[in-house]
Amino acid sequence: MSIQTSDPNETADSLKSLSLIASHSHITGLGLDPQLQPLPTSQGMVGQLKARRAAGIILKMVQNGTIAGRAVLVAGPPSTGKTALAMGLSQSLGKDVPFTALAGSEIFSLELSKTEALTQALRKSIGVRIKEETELIEGEVVEIQIDRSITGGHKQGKLTIKTTDMETIYELGNKMIDGLTKEKVLAGDVISIDKASGKITKLGRSFARSRDYDAMGADTRFVQCPEGELQKRKTVVHTVSLHEIDVINSRTQGFLALFTGDTGEIRSEVRDQINTKVAEWKEEGKAEIVPGVLFIDEVHMLDIECFSFINRAIEDEFAPIIIMATNRGISQTRGTNYKSPHGLPLDLLDRSIIITTSSYNEEEVKTILSIRAQEEEVELAPDALDLLTKTGMETSLRYSSNLISVAQQIAQKRKSNVVEIVDIKRAYLLFLDSKRSVKFVQENESQYIDDQGNVQISTVT
Ligand code: ATP
Repeated sequence: MSIQTSDPNETADSLKSLSLIASHSHITGLGLDPQLQPLPTSQGMVGQLKARRAAGIILKMVQNGTIAGRAVLVAGPPSTGKTALAMGLSQSLGKDVPFTALAGSEIFSLELSKTEALTQALRKSIGVRIKEETELIEGEVVEIQIDRSITGGHKQGKLTIKTTDMETIYELGNKMIDGLTKEKVLAGDVISIDKASGKITKLGRSFARSRDYDAMGADTRFVQCPEGELQKRKTVVHTVSLHEIDVINSRTQGFLALFTGDTGEIRSEVRDQINTKVAEWKEEGKAEIVPGVLFIDEVHMLDIECFSFINRAIEDEFAPIIIMATNRGISQTRGTNYKSPHGLPLDLLDRSIIITTSSYNEEEVKTILSIRAQEEEVELAPDALDLLTKTGMETSLRYSSNLISVAQQIAQKRKSNVVEIVDIKRAYLLFLDSKRSVKFVQENESQYIDDQGNVQISTVT
């Protein structure tokens, strides 16, 4: 079986849930020092020192490959940075490490079974770093791209190797030999190829002068026999996710399904074949498995079948690091009559490393809100930030954070670029926080439709 892969960079970002990431755009890492000790405020991370220290140890375990067979549960009250912590961990692991975020409720889609949706999420979180080696031999050429914009003077410019695809190399090499009456092309030689006529011109051993370039017109391709790179092995490395390999190999439309998202159920035989092939590549040193992170927010929304599936998945040969987050205390495990801590079955809880987050003090809330305002490019007057902080302490960090952009709109209406206390007050009156919302509903309960679909209009006079 020949397995096709795709460039990960094109799709990796789209795999991430945008809404989850936007509110954490200020987080660029866990904010740890080289000894993995948390700095009070660093990389957008504020406070929550114990949890960040714990996340630092997990980071190390992931890097050392010693985390297998375990999941991480981040438990804590709402808005205490559980998702922020997972984002920070993913950023610290680096761009090459896949990170997939989903909310527990997303599993219950109509198109895919729960286990298929979970399998896809798991395989999106496993990277396969594929190494391809090409040997360049003297006399062969590689296509180059000339960045004209930085061509200054007559003889300067930047040469970028665009492709080392062997077929292109041979094709150009043959053409070149014909066009140059079998003259051997040496390292450093620059030639141009007119795409329309195929005419090949040798421009000498130095880089094409800009006037040569101008004379050739836009239809000319420049090719240079690479200097210094000759006889050396060039290794091209690219990372794709197992899910991408699955999709490309499971459908007639191939990689296009990656863009439409219409991947459907993938047959288990396809996955088995891919696993075998990838294991072979690994054995031959052609590929490396990069366990990424699957972050499941609101994990208490999963049911007992999903939990037992995850229990098994953790032990799989190709398992990512599963980080789950919940803000529930003792609650019922969906699909059962049992109550358990965080709604998780005890066997999964037992396999989990548990990190807890706790509420922030006033200073920390203020710092987070001020970082968020900077991130959203909103200028807050000092007393407006104070009021926002007070609101955050009394309601929630998230509510207060959401008021920033609303208050900015209000400020702009009165033609001010600075958000003042009056704008925060107005935003607070216009939009309810959860406590006031509950109170409002309680006071006006009779006008709402109840669970039985009835409206109690008796109290309306
Ligand atoms: P929930 O239980 O409601 O899902 P959560 O614990 O996942 O909440 P987050 O969504 O991570 O909370 O935090 C709410 C907002 O506050 C986000 O914008 C997040 O980036 C920011 N935030 C939370 N904690 C920190 C922190 N320690 N440093 C910087 N920003 C933080």
